Parts: sequence; structure tokens; C-alpha cells
Amino acid sequence: MPRLGVIGWPIAHSRSPAMFEAAFAALGMEDWSYQRLPLAPEIFAETVTALGASGFVGANVTIPHKRAALALADRASEAARAIGAANTLTFHPDGTIAAENTDAPGLIAALGRSPRGMSALVLGAGGSARAAVWALLDAGAAKVSVWNRTPERAHALARELGAQAVADPVGADLLVNCTAVGLQRSASEAEALNQLQLSADQVGGYAYVIDLVYRDGLTPLLATARRAGVVTVDGLEVLVAQGALSFQRWIGRPAPLDAMRRGAGLEAPTS
Ligand code: NAP
Repeated sequence: MPRLGVIGWPIAHSRSPAMFEAAFAALGMEDWSYQRLPLAPEIFAETVTALGASGFVGANVTIPHKRAALALADRASEAARAIGAANTLTFHPDGTIAAENTDAPGLIAALGRSPRGMSALVLGAGGSARAAVWALLDAGAAKVSVWNRTPERAHALARELGAQAVADPVGADLLVNCTAVGLQRSASEAEALNQLQLSADQVGGYAYVIDLVYRDGLTPLLATARRAGVVTVDGLEVLVAQGALSFQRWIGRPAPLDAMRRGAGLEAPTS
């Protein structure tokens, strides 16, 4: 039985198993399985190197292991190397491990149009911000600015990837939230915007807002943006897009997107 999984610590909240099980059901792949693999950092490398011999074809990797996943792979794509992190591992029959980053192309796919020529502001300087900045520049964005609560991290990321660090959130065509703000359900909309140093008026000034954070219902940032008539992209759409690209890489056929969206908890498009 071919196996896939998602590795993280913690990983109980992950929607990837439901998303992949829905894909298997849609394509009649009853012999495939996709499971949660909760791995503490101390046992990550030794466990992952043994997965191929246990029937695993591949694994998605999430917090806090994306850098370690790149480090243990025998080879990596240009994107994964440039970003410095991998979210997709493939276990080959010869025992080697290949690393890919589908978060970056997943973000562009979820946007649904090319950012070529657009200006963008990325909020955050962690792993997902690195992938977003690289993806936007690689896809031809004219200018990418980075704001982070801890400015030194924004400066370091911007220097490394060719973006511009900014002291305060600036206006742009596209806003991408890559911070953890919005995860905490107890925070009000005003508190969340305050943490991002944004006003509701400012949010209304972007043409597109992508929030990588996802939860049941809208995040405070997406709720504000929707009210202002801004085109929004939910973090679940990004999750589905990166998962679909991993699926295609492992299985070699197009992913059943509608089934994966429903499995992840999104409504399938009505058209
Ligand atoms: P990470 O590496 O831990 O980075 C977290 C970022 O959030 C840092 O820039 C941090 O700023 C900032 N931050 C945390 N709390 C904050 C606060 N109260 N106010 C302002 N900034 C705050 O995490 P990550 O891997 O980049 O992930 C970030 C978020 O994206 C998570 O919620 C994750 O679930 C989500 N995500 C979603 C997808 C998807 O497919 N939809 C994929 C990847 C990640 P400092 O540097 O100042 O600490």
C-alpha cells in the first residue's frame, strides 16, 4: 500500500490528511493512504530517512521542520535551495530523498493571476514569508517590500532575496500576510490589525489581499479586506494549491482540485 503523510510538531490541526483522502476517493486510489506524522525535532532526521523503506512515497513537511527537510535531502530544486526550506519530500526507490518547495508556486496558483509588474507587501519574515518573497520576485513582481514586527529579520530576508525592508506597512497592489496574526481566535479585528500596524482604510487600498493564516471562517484581515471590496485569497486556497502540486509530483497525474478543496473545508466553485 503506497503511503504519504504530513510531518510536523504539532500536527493534529493539519487539514492535509482530509484533503488527500478526498483526492484518493475522487480518483479511486483506495490503496493509497495519507497520515499525520507527529515528529519532535530530535527524532526528525532519523525517522524521515527511514520512511522510504516503510512504504512512503513522499511526505509534506510543516512547522518547524521545513529547513531540516531541505538539509537532509540528497537533492533539492532551485526554489527550495533559494528559499532555504522544503515542504515536499519524495522518497525514491534507490533510497535517495528529493526536496521541493511547493509553497512558493502554490501561492502564485492560489492568487489566480500573474503578479508580473505588480508591487507587493509581504508581512512577516519567517519561513512562509521567505517562500512568498521568492515566489513573487520569481513570478515577475515589479517590487516586493517586507515588513516584520522584528525589523532586523525583515532586513536580513530582504537583503538575501532581493526585496526591500520597510519600517511601516506601505501601500502596494498586493498584500500577503505571512505572520501568525489571525490564528488566535480571541484577538478582535482591531487588535489583529494593530498587531500588523495596519488601519482598515489601508487594507482597503490594496487590490488583492492573501492571508496565509487559515481557520474556520474569515481571519480578521480577510474580513476587513472583503468589507472594503478587495479581492481576497484564503489561506486554505494556498494550502490546497501547494498540496495539489505535491500530489502531482508524487503521483504524476493532475490533482482533483475540487475534491481537495472540499476535503480541506472549502466550498467547491459553483461554475
Ligand atoms: P514562522 O516562521 O514562525 O514566522 C512567524 C512570523 O509571524 C514572524 O515574522 C513573526 O514575527 C510573526 N508574528 C508572530 N506573532 C506576531 C504578532 N503577534 N504580531 C506581529 N507579527 C507576529 O511561521 P511561518 O511558517 O512563516 O507561518 C506563518 C503563518 O502562515 C502561520 O500561521 C502558518 O500556519 C501559516 N502558513 C500557512 C500556509 C498555507 O498553506 N496556508 C503555509 C505556510 C504557513 P517576528 O519575527 O517578530 O517574531
